[in-house]
Formats: sequence, C-alpha cells, structure tokens
Amino acid sequence: MFETLVQPLFMVGTVLAYYLLGDPLLVLALGFVVLTLLEWRRPYRRDWIQTRKEWLENAFFLIGTIFIFDPFYTWAYSPLYEYSIALKERWELSLNGSLSRPVQILSVYIVIELLFYLLHLAQHKLLILWRTHKLHHYSRKMMWAKYITAHPVELALFPLAGLVTSLLFSIEPDDEALYIFTFPLLVAVFTHSNIRTNPALLGWLFVTPQYHFKHHSSAFDTRRNRAVGDCNYGVSLILFDRLFGTFDPGTVIDPVGVQPRNELNLWQQLLTPFQHGWSTAPAREAEDQS
Ligand SMILES: [Zn+2]
Ligand SMILES: [Zn+2]
Repeated sequence: MFETLVQPLFMVGTVLAYYLLGDPLLVLALGFVVLTLLEWRRPYRRDWIQTRKEWLENAFFLIGTIFIFDPFYTWAYSPLYEYSIALKERWELSLNGSLSRPVQILSVYIVIELLFYLLHLAQHKLLILWRTHKLHHYSRKMMWAKYITAHPVELALFPLAGLVTSLLFSIEPDDEALYIFTFPLLVAVFTHSNIRTNPALLGWLFVTPQYHFKHHSSAFDTRRNRAVGDCNYGVSLILFDRLFGTFDPGTVIDPVGVQPRNELNLWQQLLTPFQHGWSTAPAREAEDQS
C-alpha cells in the first residue's frame, strides 16, 4: 500500500504546497525534508544510506546548483532570452497563443520534457555530451539529492530548453506561471530517492524511482547485448520513452553508478568532464577507443 501510494501522495502534496506557500524555493525545501524523512524511515536499500562525507558532497552540489550556478546561468543567458523574445515578436511566433492559460502551461511543460528527453538521450550517445553528464552517474548509491549532483558544465545546457520555448511559445522565462516547474523538478528529485515504490498506474505516465534506478545501472545485459541503463531517459514523464522505444520497466539494476575503483574527492569529481575514464556503455566504447 505504502509503495503504491507514496509517489502519488508526494506529487499531490507538491501541488498543494505550491498553492499554499506560493514560493518555489520553500516548496523545494519542504520536499527535500519530506524525502529525507521517507528515506530515513523506509529506505529501499540500507547500503545506499549516505555517510557524513557523502552528505557534505550532496550539500555542496545542492547549494552550488540552487544558489550559485542556476542564478549565474539565468543571468548569463538573459541577453539570449531577450533576443529570442524580440525574434518571436518580429516573426509573430506563438504556437500556443490562442490556447487557454492552463493549456499553454501544459504544452510548454510537455515540450520542455521532450527537449530534456532528447538532450539526455544525446548525453548518453555522444561522447562529448556524455562528459558533461557522467558525474551525475558517478555515485554507487541512489538518494534524492543525486538528481542535483550535476556538473556545472552540464547545468549550462539546461537553459537551452527554456530558450527554445521562449522563442516558440507565449510564455516567457520570467513568467511566474513557470514556477509550476517546481512540480516536475520535485518528481525528478523523487525518482532518485532511496524509497521502494510500486509504479502501478502512475508509472504509465510518470518516471518512478524503479525506472530511474534502472537508468543509473552500469550493468551490461549480455543476452540483449546492450547496457542495462540504456533506457528510461525521461525527467518526470516516462511518456517519451514509451513512444520512442527506450522504456524498460525491469528491476535488475546492480551495480548502480559508474564510479571507478578509487573514490574521487570533490575536486577530482569536478574535473571529470575533462578526463577520460569511467563511463557507461555505449559512451564507454567510444571513450575507451579514443
Ligand atoms: Zn543519464
Ligand atoms: Zn539520474
């Protein structure tokens, strides 16, 4: 019962908290507290419980992403956003201009999910992009903060999705309606949580921890001659994996993460995009050959 209900309740709670509190940062903070409590009381795997050193590293990425890198990239991209809005006005582009406000927001959400799906797929297929993403796959343990363990170089790619949508759609980057994206963000954070869930009906549409753990697997399936983790690329929606044939609901995941034999300190982790070495297939073959 708990395993079936925990994700739907968390998602409903996220939407409620958003409307009651109104502040996306507060909603995020509340979500992080709830997930920490859930992982403490109902861990899926005890061997994934974080050490103090791992908590400090998680805190580094959490604070760095939310308070330094994300605001920095928002600032750095602002001239491009302004240019895309000017282009949109000049070309009279607005693919969803005639739709009602909720449908406009929904259409932007689905297009952003599609763009992130394609970017994520490319990050696993192209060596140069894999280098930006491999730090996210470093850890041997899953837990909620691992979603935010992303290299600052990788974070530079994320605003590109907003750039495309600000060019094509009626919603602009500073529109408060976009705070609703706290919802898919927290779903993505949830999918990294060390909590046992049962996808049930929800798993038809949304990514669940079970699906995303499989994506983080570094095992190789010799029977099917492909990497176990070459699947489930969606961020919060599993819809595009189902549409494009990359969906795999299976539960065999060990080992998780592509951590090399020796643990890396924080500084070495930050150097990973510029170094050869550990990776997942199919990027591994390309990297090993280069
Ligand atoms: Zn990935
Ligand atoms: Zn992940």
